[in-house]
Amino acid sequence: MSALTEAILHADIQKLNQDYGHWDSTSIAGGVVAALNHKTVSDKLGVDKLIFASSFGLEDVALQHILMPWMAHIDVVVLDTGRLPEATFDVMERWRAQFGLKIRVERPVRQDVASWVEAHGVDAFYDSVERRLECCQLRKILPLERALAGKRAWFTGLRRGQSMARQEVQVFDLDPAGRLKVSPLAHWSLQDTWYYVKKHRLPYNRLHDEGFPSIGCEPCTRAVLPGEDIRAGRWWWEQESKKECGLHGSSRLTAKHWEAKDAHKS
Ligand code: SF4
Repeated sequence: MSALTEAILHADIQKLNQDYGHWDSTSIAGGVVAALNHKTVSDKLGVDKLIFASSFGLEDVALQHILMPWMAHIDVVVLDTGRLPEATFDVMERWRAQFGLKIRVERPVRQDVASWVEAHGVDAFYDSVERRLECCQLRKILPLERALAGKRAWFTGLRRGQSMARQEVQVFDLDPAGRLKVSPLAHWSLQDTWYYVKKHRLPYNRLHDEGFPSIGCEPCTRAVLPGEDIRAGRWWWEQESKKECGLHGSSRLTAKHWEAKDAHKS
C-alpha cells in the first residue's frame, strides 16, 4: 500500500497536505481515486463512488476535465437550486454533448421551498443574512447532503484566491461530517485556471465573459467592476465575512471523527 493510500485510510490530513498537497492537480486527483479504490481501503471504508460537486463555474470545468480519466469512479453532481441562470444549463448541455459527461442533478424538496416562500416571500434572501442562509440551506446544503449521504470523499474546485473566506482552503480536509474533501486546485491562481480552460478549449459559462467571475443563483449574482474582488458579485448586499453559503464549512476535524464513524459502522 502506498504512503498516500495509508494516509487516506487513516484520514491523516496533516500528512496528506504536507506530503501531497504540493503535487500537481492531476496527480492528486489520480492518487486519491486510486487510494479509495485500493482493496484494503474499500474493504475497510466501503467506499462508494466519489462525488464532484460542480457548479460548472470556471474552476469546476477545469477540474472536471482533469477528472475525466476517472469518471467511472466519480458522480458529477449539480445542485439545481431552482434559481440558476439559463447560462449555467447551457454550459452543462455543452459538456454533455462534447464529452458525454453524465450529470446527476439534485434539487431541493419542493414542499420545503414552497413553505419558506409562503412564510417569507420568494426573494426574502435580500431581507437578512438569516433569511439568506435559510434559502441556501433549503436549496443547496440539504440537496448536497443528500448527494453525499453514504459517501466517504468528494472533490471540490475551491481555490484559495477566490475570496478572503477561502484563503485557508487546504488540498485535503475533512468536512463537518468527517468526509474527505479534496480540492486539487486549492493553490491555483485565476490566471492558472483561465490558462487551463483556454488551452483545452473547454466549454465554460458565457457569463464569465460578461463580468461574472463567480456564478451562483441568478438573483444573488451580479457582474463585478474592473478591480473589484472576484467574489464581490455574490450576495453583494452582505459583508464580505458572511459571504459563504455553508457548502464549504471546514470543521478541521481530526482523524478521530473518521475512526469513530468506522467503529460505528462495524
Ligand atoms: S444563492 Fe440566493 S437564491 Fe440561491 S440558494 Fe442562496 S439565497 Fe437562495
